[in-house]
Amino acid sequence: MTDDTAEIEDLPARGRSAGAPPGTRFAPSPSPVRDVPAAAPLEGRGLITCDNLVKIYKVADLEVVALQGLDLLVEPGEFVALVGASGSGKSTLMNILGGLDVPSAGRAVVAGHDLGDMGRRERTAYRRDVIGFVWQQTGRNLLGYLTARQNVELPMLLNGVSRSERERRATDLLGRMGLAERGDHRPDRLSGGEQQRTAIAVALANRPAVILADEPTGELDSVTAHEVFDLLRSVNQELGITIVVVTHDPLVSEQVSRTIAIRDGRTSSETLRRRAINAEGDHHVISEEYAVLDRVGRLQLPRAHVEALGLDRRVRLALEPDHISVWPDRERSGDDGREQDSQP
Ligand code: ADP
Ligand code: MG
Repeated sequence: MTDDTAEIEDLPARGRSAGAPPGTRFAPSPSPVRDVPAAAPLEGRGLITCDNLVKIYKVADLEVVALQGLDLLVEPGEFVALVGASGSGKSTLMNILGGLDVPSAGRAVVAGHDLGDMGRRERTAYRRDVIGFVWQQTGRNLLGYLTARQNVELPMLLNGVSRSERERRATDLLGRMGLAERGDHRPDRLSGGEQQRTAIAVALANRPAVILADEPTGELDSVTAHEVFDLLRSVNQELGITIVVVTHDPLVSEQVSRTIAIRDGRTSSETLRRRAINAEGDHHVISEEYAVLDRVGRLQLPRAHVEALGLDRRVRLALEPDHISVWPDRERSGDDGREQDSQP
């Protein structure tokens, strides 16, 4: 829903954006769930919640459905990787979570902010305080005529942070990013990796709840990419900041606790990883892939499974004591017109 549709809908007053000064953090508050019948409110269900999120772009007379009913739940303190083919909707999702674009339908709530229903002031405050954004293009993250330190101080300046506090925080952040000696350089004097590390420091300047990074290492060589990724991990572990990172790098996605695969504008599967110790005392990582079940019970079968059994249009389900079986529709494939009486 766009800002426009939100205005014409007869919504009860929420009393949380009106008149609040920029920078105000809004506590989660109960509000009606629209578009989704018979479900619990989203607020309080994690730091980031997307429910049946839809984004349609209109290009001339064509409609491009970039997100088609995407669900996502991220808990505070998580470090999550988003993966998926080009065009699957990852950047669209990141732009909505970043408050840069609005959903066409469905809901997205981040730290109590309903992203489809924010006024201009709340949106500005949200972008400045609640999230930090790191783009793939190094040139997009930093202002070229400011030094690294000035770039880090700028978001604080816009937020009215005192000079001494700005200097203190910028020194701390540049130090954390291994840039203590580089703060006086402009971006064109920094390497690609240094620029992205500066970009992370900028994103952290106003102590956001979430860092969103859209292929932040996409333009870096693999060694530099891993340095940048290690810094993101330390930001997550040491500062407790929730991170959502879009990546194509399989090595990166193997290091996070949860990888979410997006396919055709939906979350299609999740891979969870945990460390375990085997009988010989060796540490290793166990990773398990799950299909995603949405709030009304829909799930997307992996394409390989569908193709292996030639599943098409409908399947038979059988509830077993501890699992559900899915059978091909033999009646269709057999096409003998008779009532099917034998289950496989
Ligand atoms: P990804 O980041 O996974 O590669 P995107 O979110 O950029 O995917 O794109 C998803 C789909 O939406 C694609 O089909 C893309 O062409 C389309 N799309 C993205 N942004 C726009 C836009 N601003 N206008 C029109 N179509 C867009
Ligand atoms: Mg993209």
